[in-house]
Amino acid sequence: MQKVITLKDLCLVTKTAQMAANIHGGRAKCLQRLIRLDMPVPTTVALSFDAVRAIAAGQVADIPQILRHFEENPLLSVRPSSMDPDWGGPGAMLNIGMNDAKHAQLCETLGEDPATRLYMRYIQSFAVEVARLDPEEFYLPDQPSLAALKAMLATYETEMDAEFPQDAGEQLGEVLRSMARTWEGTTARLLRQAKGAPADAGLGLVVQEMALAMGPGISGSGVIQFVDNTTGTAQINGRFAPQATHTEIIRDSANAIYLTRDPRGPSLEDEAPDAFQKLIEFGALGRIRLREEMEIKFILRDGELTILDAIRVQRSSRAAVRIAVDLATSGVIAKEDAVMRVQPAALSELLHRQVDRRAKRDFLVRGIAASPGAASGRLVFSANEAQASAAREEPCVLVRRETTPEDIRGMHAAAAVVTLRGGVTSHAAVIGRGMGLPCIVGAADMDIDEKKREITVPDGRTFQAGDMVTVDGTTGQMLAGQPAMLEAALDDAFQTLLSWADAVRDIGIRANADTPADAQTARNFEAEGIGLCRTEHMFFDGDRVDLMREMIFAETPEGLGAVLERLLPLQRADFKDLFRIMQGLPVCIRLFDAPLHEFLPVGKSGMRELAEVLDVPLAQITARVDDLSEYNPMLGQRGVRLGISVPEIYDMQARAIFEATAAASETSGAIVPEIMIPLVSAMREVELVQSRIDAVAAAVRTETGVDFEYKLGVMVETPRAALRAEDIAEHAAFLSFGTNDLTQMTYGLSRDDAGKFMSDYVKQQVYEEDPFHTLDLEGVGELLKLGAERGRRGRPDVTLSICGEHGGDTNAIAFCRAQGFDYVSCSPFRVPVARLSAAQLALKDKIGQ
Ligand code: PEP
Ligand code: MG
Repeated sequence: MQKVITLKDLCLVTKTAQMAANIHGGRAKCLQRLIRLDMPVPTTVALSFDAVRAIAAGQVADIPQILRHFEENPLLSVRPSSMDPDWGGPGAMLNIGMNDAKHAQLCETLGEDPATRLYMRYIQSFAVEVARLDPEEFYLPDQPSLAALKAMLATYETEMDAEFPQDAGEQLGEVLRSMARTWEGTTARLLRQAKGAPADAGLGLVVQEMALAMGPGISGSGVIQFVDNTTGTAQINGRFAPQATHTEIIRDSANAIYLTRDPRGPSLEDEAPDAFQKLIEFGALGRIRLREEMEIKFILRDGELTILDAIRVQRSSRAAVRIAVDLATSGVIAKEDAVMRVQPAALSELLHRQVDRRAKRDFLVRGIAASPGAASGRLVFSANEAQASAAREEPCVLVRRETTPEDIRGMHAAAAVVTLRGGVTSHAAVIGRGMGLPCIVGAADMDIDEKKREITVPDGRTFQAGDMVTVDGTTGQMLAGQPAMLEAALDDAFQTLLSWADAVRDIGIRANADTPADAQTARNFEAEGIGLCRTEHMFFDGDRVDLMREMIFAETPEGLGAVLERLLPLQRADFKDLFRIMQGLPVCIRLFDAPLHEFLPVGKSGMRELAEVLDVPLAQITARVDDLSEYNPMLGQRGVRLGISVPEIYDMQARAIFEATAAASETSGAIVPEIMIPLVSAMREVELVQSRIDAVAAAVRTETGVDFEYKLGVMVETPRAALRAEDIAEHAAFLSFGTNDLTQMTYGLSRDDAGKFMSDYVKQQVYEEDPFHTLDLEGVGELLKLGAERGRRGRPDVTLSICGEHGGDTNAIAFCRAQGFDYVSCSPFRVPVARLSAAQLALKDKIGQ
């Protein structure tokens, strides 16, 4: 049944009118607030969402009911008022009510030229926006004239078979109908839904008496705000243009004058000091009473001030943080409000350089956004080229089919990395995130020709080594050239906001950090410890990868022993560094979990190089690679399986950890290292490893005379480990869920290959999201829940956490909080985002949202 428009739906905006943002829209509600603050707002009538819906459906608005609030023959404006101003809406219509009689009257008061320009501009917008006539027919001449006006009116009449409406009520009715219908159109619907509006979002409209910005004395239109949009620091910004409308100053501000006194030219402060002073006062009042930084839209007519509107200041992520913190520090809002006002994702923008939103993007190819931030550089196709480029101090972008440990050197040297294969948990993605290096993976629509050293992107363009490109790891786009960037901004406001977040947060946040450099980043971002140190990653770098390979290739116990002896001091030094940097905070070290294929040489040249390093015949290398290669390396001799079949490796690592513990404990107080066993699927695996590690600990205690403790824990990343968590926990002080492998194994979906078809799956809604990106609460989450319950049954005080790449995501943190986990661990650069997300979840719980 069609809704009948009632008087309540056409509401004169007064201090006491019954109004709400979810009935009349944000703009209407804000105007009421301005009126309550005694600001000079022109007479305004608000139409509710219901009224606008009824008009769109064909009901005629009760125009006399609206017009009765205005003077006779008024000039009016109509503006959209959706619930959230960011959802947009149809453009404003100004000067409704303009007609021949009004034109004659304005010729007297304003002069013929301005009056004619005003009328012609109105006819133009009415013809194009409301009557939907061809814009070509209604262009505005530079010099308005009565003849041109007459011609325009005649064109309208020819096109419409009717005279240009002279009645203000008729014009208003048409404008309301047109705006209401535009809102219901598919384009507008899709646009606002992309901005987060619900499918049934309503539109309110505000009809307001026009304040003419033309006339004697100082007259014109202006906007003023009291903070900078980019930095959020206090600063008067805006513009004022004499004898111009707001639409004109947006299009062209050539004749705008300064707002504040300026030696370069006239200013509003000098020309209209009283009005300027009032604006400053209104700004301060609005900030306190509306609890927000507002942009005020105003009109001066012969020096007299009218406030048309005030909206939330548009702001960059950086400004959002500063504004929230400044409002709280000055007591306008509570610290908790400030914490709630900043989107966690916005912090991620502050941690990395970004492509400036205003910059033009020459799009080349899209892949998976694997590590945020942006960087420009010249294309290179190998680690060696990347290193050479770095030596010349020339930033470069490394493009590879996929990365292997051999590429780590190249990744360190590059400004950004792009791979054609892989998903969010593949090698390049994990390493890229750890290093804070912008990275796109799975850019499968691009072709690469390594021999010619060139790529071809979907639109057919080809780019060669040395060409300049930009990687936007935040959006997953590769761009041509070098668009303008915004620098990272870890300023005091950022630190303050996070300290407030920490005060309300109730779940721990640790970092996944593999190297001393990662650990330092983790400390800088105030992680509460290391939740996962992937020890094999310590060997991705430099010459160490060869040592690692030597270990894998060792064929005799003596050969292995000799390599382990060389590895021991390196590992000990690494762990000492980690303990020193983390200053007594917990450090969880995961024993080797190298899928062997990650360390095998690639191609003939790789094997030849290794033959040289190991000083053995090439044939021996080829034979060993054959021997070691597996059909499913990710399900092969990885993790604890290597530890069981070659226990000397874990023995060496345990010794390195304990010797570092003993040494560090002498200088920095007692350290209790956490040792984690990867890829466990049976309790007996834990028992076997535990007994050997206990023996190593006992030996090191005797040798060093230092009596240290350690905690042994298990990484729950196979479904069986989750199912058997009860008996596993009897041997484990902590259980950490590795959601990358757990997702891979729960779905039976290779984490390195899923990228190829994931977008088809998501598009066709087989999966709502990529489960490697967003933790699958229904399936993998069920295993986490069950594993946690069973683990607690086996050991009531077992420490629970997750350390997969999901660790920093809001949905994973919410889930872990709900299950009473102790902490989440995520890549160092995600730590601030996770701290804020966790705080917001705690606050939402507190206020019962
Ligand atoms: C995991 O599987 O979730 C994990 C953290 O380990 P990795 O990514 O090293 O396999
Ligand atoms: Mg794993």
